Amino acid sequence: EQNMTTLIMIFGATGDLAKRKLFPSLYRLFERGRIANRFAVIGVARRPLSNDQFQQSVKDSVTSALGAKQNLDQFASHFYYQSHDVTDSNSYIALKKLADEIDTHNHLEGNRIFYLAMAPEFFGSIALHLKADGLTNVKGYKRLVIEKPFGHDLESAKELNEQIRTAFSEEEIYRIDHYLGKEMVRNIEVIRFANAIFEPLWNNRYISNIQITSSETLGVEERGRYYESSGALRDMLQNHMMQIVALLAMEPPISLTTKEIRLEKVRVFRSLRTIKGEAVNDYFVRGQYGEGEIDQKKVPKYRDEPMVNNESNTETFVAGKVMIDNFRWAGVPFYIRTGKRMETKSTKIVIQFKDIPMNLYYRPEKELSPNLLVIHIQPEEGITLHLNAKKAGSHLDAQEVKLSFSNTGTYAMNTPEGYEKLLFDCMRGDATNFTHWDEVAYSWAFVDEISKVWDQTKGDFPNYDAGTMGPKAADELLEKDGFFWWPIN
Ligand code: NAD
Repeated sequence: EQNMTTLIMIFGATGDLAKRKLFPSLYRLFERGRIANRFAVIGVARRPLSNDQFQQSVKDSVTSALGAKQNLDQFASHFYYQSHDVTDSNSYIALKKLADEIDTHNHLEGNRIFYLAMAPEFFGSIALHLKADGLTNVKGYKRLVIEKPFGHDLESAKELNEQIRTAFSEEEIYRIDHYLGKEMVRNIEVIRFANAIFEPLWNNRYISNIQITSSETLGVEERGRYYESSGALRDMLQNHMMQIVALLAMEPPISLTTKEIRLEKVRVFRSLRTIKGEAVNDYFVRGQYGEGEIDQKKVPKYRDEPMVNNESNTETFVAGKVMIDNFRWAGVPFYIRTGKRMETKSTKIVIQFKDIPMNLYYRPEKELSPNLLVIHIQPEEGITLHLNAKKAGSHLDAQEVKLSFSNTGTYAMNTPEGYEKLLFDCMRGDATNFTHWDEVAYSWAFVDEISKVWDQTKGDFPNYDAGTMGPKAADELLEKDGFFWWPIN
């Protein structure tokens, strides 16, 4: 058994993320016996709360996420609260005193995790204070968990990185990309490297194109203010989508250590074809939703959402063609698209294999379907392989059959929530499924060239109806290469 003794400080403990994800995930770890009795959590946020009030809010969050639970009081007794002003040294000095007391009292061995679950503009100054005011001066380990967004572009990301690096080394920094907590995203590597039948075909000789879709039906909700300065490119593509590209495209690592996997992912980022200037509009498409219908309900256009400029130039949809200019992938487009207010909520990867050299089964009315490997990330979790087989009863007609494996069907009750796995990884000191600075930097450099062009020109918005799969230009992006988006529902 690993030593899970630790003190976790959650900055932003009254926020949405803490309540919806972090407390329930900690509870699950507790329930499964993964964190024993030697852990404590200090919730840190602005408003004054007593420990009792905070513990009640922790219990409420767990109940609303997971239903009624027996040992909630015991769980909640590990939680403490400290009202805090992130810009004031006195707050940190008080926090240090409380942390030291709790540490001694509970024999936490000086292990500390600082989880920054609040507005990103504070990330840098919190890290600086943690060091300056002595909170990182511990005899155990110290780790910083930092939420997205990691900067707004390469320059601001560098600045943030320099600030946090004054207090934490790269090995101590856990940059959350919650897609890397998803079961099927972690499965990409196993599907690729544990099967004899895929890896030999996993290259430009046999794969024609790869399509990654992450669609939401939700609009911008209450996040209008943040989203206006971000958009789909920065909010989704720079991090989550590019991470999936890296996992699909990387070379087999020498071993499954954090260092080796990161090295291979970074090599993918280094091979990205830079798309800039006039090429941007050949490779990338942006969209913004207009009015439409979702689940038979009328929904407003983006520009009418709360806290959104009524002439907003922010994209709520992006589709792109990413080229990886290395030996394995030369000539194979990776098409990626993501957006809000789309037809379905789904994250899927479709790997389309090249056609066979000659079709013996051709009928004028029906061509053979290509082989597809579909990786379902959410809401279903599983894999489907599309093959051609003889149609029963027919002479020699080929028809498409699907071999499916459903994770949710098999392990329905056990599939852990992404945050649970990420928190557990952090406690164990396994940073594999967090993003390394080099990945962040390369990915921003790639994305910056696109936003540079888009920030300077007005989009023809709105250009897709809510409840659809995005603007027509996103379909044309594939059509001009002779492909189309495979349906994802
Ligand atoms: P939120 O606005 O709901 O919560 C913010 C928290 O920060 C509150 O606890 C608030 O009290 C605290 N806070 C704000 N200003 C403070 C100050 N000056 N001093 C002390 N405390 C202060 O935000 P959220 O949705 O929980 O998001 C937190 C972070 O997680 C953000 O970086 C966000 O981008 C990221 N994130 C959130 C989600 C999500 O599902 N909510 C998903 C992914 C990433």
